[in-house]
Amino acid sequence: MNLEEQDKQYVLQTYTRDYTNFVKGVGSTLYDDKGKDYIDFASGIGVNSVGHGNETLTAALCEQAKNIIHISNLQVIEPQAKLAQKIVELSGYDMGVFFANSGAEANEGAIKIARKYGETKFDYKRFKVITLEHSFHGRTITTVKATGQESFHTPNFSPYPDGFSYEKSIEDVYKAIDDETVAVLIELVQGEGGVQPFEKEEIQKLAAHLKSEAILLIVDEVQTGVYRTGEFLASNLYEIEPDIITLAKGLGGGVPIGAVMTKHKEILSAGDHGSTFGGNYLSTTAGLAVLDVLHPLYDNGIIDETLVYFSQKLQEIVSKYNHLFEKEVGLGLMRGLRAKSADIQGNVIKNCMSEGVIVLKAGRNTVRFLPSITISKNEIDEGFKRFEKAISSL
Ligand SMILES: *Cc1c(COP(=O)(O)O)cnc(C)c1O
Repeated sequence: MNLEEQDKQYVLQTYTRDYTNFVKGVGSTLYDDKGKDYIDFASGIGVNSVGHGNETLTAALCEQAKNIIHISNLQVIEPQAKLAQKIVELSGYDMGVFFANSGAEANEGAIKIARKYGETKFDYKRFKVITLEHSFHGRTITTVKATGQESFHTPNFSPYPDGFSYEKSIEDVYKAIDDETVAVLIELVQGEGGVQPFEKEEIQKLAAHLKSEAILLIVDEVQTGVYRTGEFLASNLYEIEPDIITLAKGLGGGVPIGAVMTKHKEILSAGDHGSTFGGNYLSTTAGLAVLDVLHPLYDNGIIDETLVYFSQKLQEIVSKYNHLFEKEVGLGLMRGLRAKSADIQGNVIKNCMSEGVIVLKAGRNTVRFLPSITISKNEIDEGFKRFEKAISSL
């Protein structure tokens, strides 16, 4: 039985999978079992923020694994406390952190904080959470309901929890707010929805309005967080102060971790929320190592250089191949090329794989790029050389 047969027989088939068998990664280069190399512009959907085989990360993990991988949250966990402090300091916000294991779980935590805030801060219960169309907030039954895409709310999984509504635009959010609204949950750059950023002024105006109404602003930074947009948080780039922020993808460099942080530190008390694995020695050690790698790169302006260089490459592609792509979209190292059709999108992604460069889809017609934050100029050059080869016949 080969690997593909084994996967098909024993793994539930919830993904449309490619069967390239990767066996090693170095930086932003992946190698398959036949020795073919690929430039990784996907980084496991924005997860491998420090690339593959990063020495700081792997050394920290090996060292920690030899000592303690896990105890429980009934004991204090030193790397957890350190990581919480580090995240809070880098964010510049006066917040407290709860650790979970994934983006969806971080968002569940955010929704729980909002619901309890709605229960305790007003003389009557406020519970409604407004989200945006084309958003993506996760795959649990609640976060799938929070996701503003009808196709996700199939009757197969109903009934869903109540209290979510979806708006087309920020302007519509104002109209949708009523006296049961407790929070607005938003991605500053919609990732899965098509790498679409919101306007800074629009977001700042919304943040100010919500604040004046004591309604919570929850920013889902599961994809945008940890330097993905060039700042530690997209919220920093937008110069807003959310009530609640969620993180996950890039934080552990590939080790599962999620985090929800809030300035309303008093809302959750003992027993309100918990997680068996959340914030254990291994995942928070990973988080610390990732930040140890990325923070100096940010301070030295290297992340800025990388994102400018990457964006230039994309602009060159758009002007040279304007029969395939409408425009470049996104922010920082969260980028997309808006293809002129879904067919083009599909063919680009397929050809890229055979030319040895990995890219992602987003929305209906966007080719998405989420390279590791540590990607080198050489790897970017090589990746785009292959990308051009992949699209030149289209
Ligand atoms: C990926 C993603 C999630 C879900 O994260 P999981 O770790 O898959 O649960 C939630 N929100 C956003 C914005 C994401 O990009």
